[in-house]
Amino acid sequence: MAERGPVLAADIGGTKMAVGVAEPGGRLITWSQVPTPRDSDAKHLWRTLEDLVLQVLDTAKVGDLSELSGIGCGCGGPMEWPSGLVSPLNIPGWRGFPLRERLAERFGASGIPVRVHNDAVCVAAGEHWRGAGRGWRNVLGMVVSTGVGGGLILDNRLIEGSSGNAGHVGHVVVYPDDGPKCECGGRGCLEAIARGPALTAWAQARGWRSDRPGLTAKDLSGDAAQGHPVATEALRRAGRALGIAIASATSLCDLEVVAVGGGLSQAGALLFEPLQESLATYCRLDFARDVRVVPAALGQNAGLVGAAALVVAGHRYWSGDLPAGLPVRRGQHHDGAGGLVMQALPPPVAKQPQVVGHEEKRQDLAAQHEHDRADERGAQAHR
Ligand SMILES: [Zn+2]
Repeated sequence: MAERGPVLAADIGGTKMAVGVAEPGGRLITWSQVPTPRDSDAKHLWRTLEDLVLQVLDTAKVGDLSELSGIGCGCGGPMEWPSGLVSPLNIPGWRGFPLRERLAERFGASGIPVRVHNDAVCVAAGEHWRGAGRGWRNVLGMVVSTGVGGGLILDNRLIEGSSGNAGHVGHVVVYPDDGPKCECGGRGCLEAIARGPALTAWAQARGWRSDRPGLTAKDLSGDAAQGHPVATEALRRAGRALGIAIASATSLCDLEVVAVGGGLSQAGALLFEPLQESLATYCRLDFARDVRVVPAALGQNAGLVGAAALVVAGHRYWSGDLPAGLPVRRGQHHDGAGGLVMQALPPPVAKQPQVVGHEEKRQDLAAQHEHDRADERGAQAHR
């Protein structure tokens, strides 16, 4: 592969498919997008993406696929990570679609890295790498749009969690008991309140342009800017909910910066003022109080820049390439040369909770300490 060659980046959602070619430093050389043919079958969806990639590669004058140093792709969730089997909620034609495998077969024949992650995670990675979170070590990137998504960077590393789903800030609960039902099956999640369609429905139920179907959060923001009281209150409600969720996330993760992107963030002060007020109410501990909440800086290209980051800054934003079938210790680290240092562990054994006496508990703890020490010795041996 071309070590410092350009990166192919894609960002696939229910509304649009975007593809770009980025320099290894993250600057987009060219990009283009088409509406997602969301009611098409799997084959037509893939053909649409394939055609767009070929067109963008042509514009970027990438004549030979072997010039690419890698392929990064963000896609709407849910997905199986890191295998890249995608089932985007808003693209019904893809259910368990092997996006990572298909991209690798078609465009990655020369053995370059091909990486697929959640689209909101890519936005967070992009904003941390080259956007509003640049230079900060602890950042939550959020997308407030048709849904509310996010990605979490702690200590300069993207946090994956056990299934690649860490950072799902849209399902932080902000109004548990009398909050609205959420698509996830829960109640009172941030997303159930602040997602665009929930906001417009809330406002329409209270008399804002009740007779007009198909209105969007953009229409709502426009009317709020003109002083419509219900539209303004809808944005206040979203801002307050965001502030509560961000306060919780900040206390939990000791964040420095929260970058808020997506269509709703365009509402500006109408959203950010109530957000800051509720943040000030709920975020009181000294360490948390100084968190900066800022609009995302990369606009609609954040997803593409973040997809490129999965490849060219993989030491920060990708830990998914582990050999199949080998249980790996959490917190594996890189050896600085791009390789992963790993340790095999016996697979976790499902334990039934049980009541143990003092003596047994002490023996359990002693065994656990011995296990931990063996781990540390193993880690040192690999250094
Ligand atoms: Zn939810």
